Amino acid sequence: MYAEEVATMAGRIRDEDVALVRERTSIAEVISDTVTLRSAGGGNLKGLCPFHDEKSPSFNVSPARNVFYCFGCGVGGDAIKFLMDAEHLSFIDSVERLAARAGIQLRYVESDHTTPRARPQQGQRQRLVAAHAAAVEFYRAQLTTAGARPAREFLAQRGFDRAAAERYGCGFAPDGWDLLTKHLRQQGFTHDELVTAGLSRPARSGSLIDRFRRRLLWPIRDLTGDVIGFGARKLFDDDDGPKYLNTPETPIYKKSHVLYGIDQAKREIAKQGKVVVVEGYTDVMACHLAGVPTAVATCGTAFGADHIGVLRRLLMDTDAVAGEIIFTFDGDAAGQKAALRAFDDDQRFVGRTFIAVSPDNMDPCELRLAKGDLAVRDLVARREPLVDFALRHVISRHDLDTVDGRVEAMRRAAPLVAKIKDREKRPEYVRKLAGDLGMEIEPVQRAVLAAGNAPPSGRGAEATSRPARAEPVVDSPQAMVEREALKLALQEPVLAGPMFDAVEAPDYRHPVHVVVREAIAAAGGAAAAAGGAVWIESVRDACADLAARALVGELAVEPLRIDGEPDPRYVSITMARVQWGSVTSRIKDLKSRIQRINPVNNKDEYFAAFGELLSLEQHARALREQAAGGL
Ligand SMILES: [Zn+2]
Repeated sequence: MYAEEVATMAGRIRDEDVALVRERTSIAEVISDTVTLRSAGGGNLKGLCPFHDEKSPSFNVSPARNVFYCFGCGVGGDAIKFLMDAEHLSFIDSVERLAARAGIQLRYVESDHTTPRARPQQGQRQRLVAAHAAAVEFYRAQLTTAGARPAREFLAQRGFDRAAAERYGCGFAPDGWDLLTKHLRQQGFTHDELVTAGLSRPARSGSLIDRFRRRLLWPIRDLTGDVIGFGARKLFDDDDGPKYLNTPETPIYKKSHVLYGIDQAKREIAKQGKVVVVEGYTDVMACHLAGVPTAVATCGTAFGADHIGVLRRLLMDTDAVAGEIIFTFDGDAAGQKAALRAFDDDQRFVGRTFIAVSPDNMDPCELRLAKGDLAVRDLVARREPLVDFALRHVISRHDLDTVDGRVEAMRRAAPLVAKIKDREKRPEYVRKLAGDLGMEIEPVQRAVLAAGNAPPSGRGAEATSRPARAEPVVDSPQAMVEREALKLALQEPVLAGPMFDAVEAPDYRHPVHVVVREAIAAAGGAAAAAGGAVWIESVRDACADLAARALVGELAVEPLRIDGEPDPRYVSITMARVQWGSVTSRIKDLKSRIQRINPVNNKDEYFAAFGELLSLEQHARALREQAAGGL
């Protein structure tokens, strides 16, 4: 798949060098830059796939084989392929990036000849990143000049000393039309490269001018630390541009994905399992310096689904998505609304979302200046669950001194409580809501129950949650053993096939497991399968819904719950235990039916049911023996 692309390049990297790059690259390290990986057993690692949206990890990395593969969407390959797909790099760009990382000097050949080229031809991304690196140095040097005094003062007034400015690479775009452009042209960057990078733009005269002038600059880095753009703050009153100006969309700068500070924060985010979302560059700096190293900010855009995706892959540190996202707000209504909306379509995150509203409408930067580092840490520590925040928000819009106001507030708030996914928390929130409204618990409880039965309605704050999707339940022994049976069929079809196929879908209790069981049948049954990726794919294709498809990817790689190799005895025990649940529940149903049948008036029905019960009980005895280990 690369050969075609390599052949079309004017000059290409020598094959031996590409091979060397592959050999010297740790795929786990490369992928860990953007995806948090954890052990998947057997020396393998897994995480949330960066190529498709998923809630449980089906993205697998095998360090031993130096490859990755996603069972959810089927993307896979080596480290070069990963960078190509994940960062939209060309083949050459990817190899160059990995070579730089591994300290390998690449040699290039003309496509027609075998003589090494004198000057390496770099890929576009590499060139744009190099242009930004040169621009950072240029702007940094400018920050010490006389003209940059307002920029230095701006930083100093916000509590940032020289060391802080250096840590974040702050710079100054000087007063001049094309100082940076000229500087970069001298360094060999072309007209097109500077325009594509967003660093320069064509003036009406046709000549190139600098995009940023007379502004304080923050370099914006991607997860790997490469500078991909700038944020620019207005300093002068006669500057009639907007307060903040950002790099426009470029091949390397996508504002919907960009998070300022992520390069410095990512390790702490993964380690602490939490991220603090603030609103500006100075807030990120203030938080980091105050001892909240997990702070990031969006750049010139609202926090959205793509940002969630980036963070979710970093937060993936345990079996469930367990990370906390904490939004800080200075009490401004627009920001609050954005937070409430941000998780509209990601119900699972609602319970993980917290709001920290700073006192006196101060942002973290102002708070640090006014009250010190401790106050910033305290702001984050005093975060409030999104649900509590939303309830307060809804209630505050009503006059609780009147009966009508209290009833209306209750009607508005009840749907929020009804949609709390964690059912065990609901009674607690009912009590809390009743207390906040100054009402008895019973009417509030009734309102919540009614709201839970009614179809969801309303938008905005009231629509922060939607009905939860059906998810595989793994907390019961029955669910556990069903998973194990499906894993055997997917991973060991040759061994488990005949016994697995003998137990049909109705014996599975959990809806998503039933769908997977049906898909295995539709794919021809486990007994006829040879196993491997082709088998998994055909089962995935046969799945009737997305949840089942995702589950197949997961089960295909989840280690079996047995030490050592599975054997026929293990399969037999597992399949007996799968049926045990349905047989015992059928016995229970039957017994209750027999009790309700009048044996005098419905003699035939009574004896038929009784006969069925006897044979089921016999089946149950056999299963119990089988489950105990007899074949
Ligand atoms: Zn995937």
